[in-house]
Amino acid sequence: MFNLFKKKTPVESCVAVSEKAEKSVSDFISVTAHQLKTPFTSIKWAIELMQKGEMGPLTEDQKILLDKMYSSTLHASRLISEMLNAYRLESGSSVFDFELADDLADVLKRSIEEIRPLAENKKIVIETEISSELPTNLYIDHDKIEDVFQILLENAIKYTNAGGKILVKFALNKDGAVFSFADSGIGISKESQVNIFKKFFRTYRANEKEHDGSGLGLFIAKSIVERHQGQISFQSEENKGSTFFVTLPFGEKIK
Ligand code: ADP
Repeated sequence: MFNLFKKKTPVESCVAVSEKAEKSVSDFISVTAHQLKTPFTSIKWAIELMQKGEMGPLTEDQKILLDKMYSSTLHASRLISEMLNAYRLESGSSVFDFELADDLADVLKRSIEEIRPLAENKKIVIETEISSELPTNLYIDHDKIEDVFQILLENAIKYTNAGGKILVKFALNKDGAVFSFADSGIGISKESQVNIFKKFFRTYRANEKEHDGSGLGLFIAKSIVERHQGQISFQSEENKGSTFFVTLPFGEKIK
């Protein structure tokens, strides 16, 4: 109460200014992403109409061009959704709907089956060690935890060379549920490891290998896991592979 009018130190002032600037940037990104959502939906719809031949027959060259336009539009739409998702999580406006996770193993298995075709295209094998034990006091937002699994599985596939291997494990321990996603991929250099959960961060090698990433996936995954009072971490060695760990604690339903 007595330091109500205390002058800020130079460092405190700088932190306040940079927090304010960061918030303005976040707000700007959110508004822009929101504005872009509708035009991209229209563009996607128009391309689909043309692809179906509803605007007249297409030449082979026109079909190829439309396919390229369609995949670029999907990429842009996905980027916009990820930006909005990241902003909502960061600002606390994302709504979580916690329910008993008595089907946790099934949620994981479903995510793996959804993504398996992507792995098969790259001749990557996904192996699993999934316990059938069911938690009786663990609450999750099912859709959001599925998003976390999708992000980690997709990354494991993206950053693993053709012919590689991914091992997914799930088990309960005395504190909660423990998941791990291990790949035999390109790994993450020591210097990059401190930045890996930061918004928009991508390693130099990831940029070279996969142009499509946004650098938002792990930020989103971390925000979701932490909202569940859980933890996300990883171990990685360049050219050997990476393992991401997620733990979700037992406990009362989170408010
Ligand atoms: P994106 O994959 O869209 O770039 P993410 O936030 O999901 O964004 O990941 C951030 C960065 O972390 C990636 O660009 C990549 O450099 C690195 N990364 C994430 N997962 C892996 C992995 N399994 N193996 C190697 N690098 C990874």
